[in-house]
Amino acid sequence: MEDLLQLKNKNFVIMGVANDRSIAWGVAKALHQVGANLIFTYRKERSLGKLNKLLEKNEIQATLIAECDVNSDESIEAAFKKIGEEAGTVHGVIHSVAFAHSEDLNGEFINTSRSGYAFAQDTSAYSFIAVAKAAKPLMTEGGSLVAMSYLGAERAVEGYNVMGVAKAALESSVKYLALDLGKDNIRVNAISAGPIRTLAAKGISDFNQILHHVEEKAPLKRNVTQAEVGDMTVVLLSHLSRGVTGEIVHVDAGYNIVG
Ligand code: NAP
Repeated sequence: MEDLLQLKNKNFVIMGVANDRSIAWGVAKALHQVGANLIFTYRKERSLGKLNKLLEKNEIQATLIAECDVNSDESIEAAFKKIGEEAGTVHGVIHSVAFAHSEDLNGEFINTSRSGYAFAQDTSAYSFIAVAKAAKPLMTEGGSLVAMSYLGAERAVEGYNVMGVAKAALESSVKYLALDLGKDNIRVNAISAGPIRTLAAKGISDFNQILHHVEEKAPLKRNVTQAEVGDMTVVLLSHLSRGVTGEIVHVDAGYNIVG
């Protein structure tokens, strides 16, 4: 299998581990299993502490851990400069980062503030473009970028509000980046994950109701796991998906196909 994937000893930057429930941690565990080298970025010191404990507990050796606040170009540039200097070539980046202010997630979408809209877009959509730009010079052997999205990009999901619009921008950015970076043999895709109970999900009102609804309506009659999203991310980073770019892959127990 390792030969089919061609991920062994390759360098992947994983952005967005806040704790053991994070989707990015599911990706890290899946990538570790196939022998990839793991480079992490974090924002809060608290996340760094949690990440260090997780790595120790799971006996995983990180190649590098770098601070990166995606709201700052300087921080992104400094993180990828450090990655280039200390790890060399990068073969893929997993962008598993999003944030919106709680006041822009609660209540009616029509009340979204100008600044809240801009902040959600900056953190959750523009950041992927900035990260792609910083990673590109390090991806001299080609590679793959993967972002995390949600059905709220395509449909009006109650309570998802400003984040749904940010995810729509993120999914469109995936396609434009794929068009730009294809000539450098860099593929760009996103996973549209079903709801998973994480720290970020706590900000979504009625999240339990969303989980129950998926369980009832999805073709597979259940919710998806962090491990399932991790496994599909590995596919999108691997040789197996070498013909796939600009794609939004649903890992949602099939929920998106039901009316
Ligand atoms: P999570 O564990 O809370 O991860 C979110 C991450 O975003 C955290 O590590 C957080 O880091 C990071 N982040 C926020 N603002 C940042 C900034 N300015 N700079 C750098 N990092 C920043 O939640 P998650 O559910 O795994 O979310 C990961 C991705 O999956 C997000 O894009 C989310 O929208 C997407 N997604 C989630 C679900 C779901 O149901 N959980 C479904 C579909 C898609 P700090 O804590 O250090 O700030």
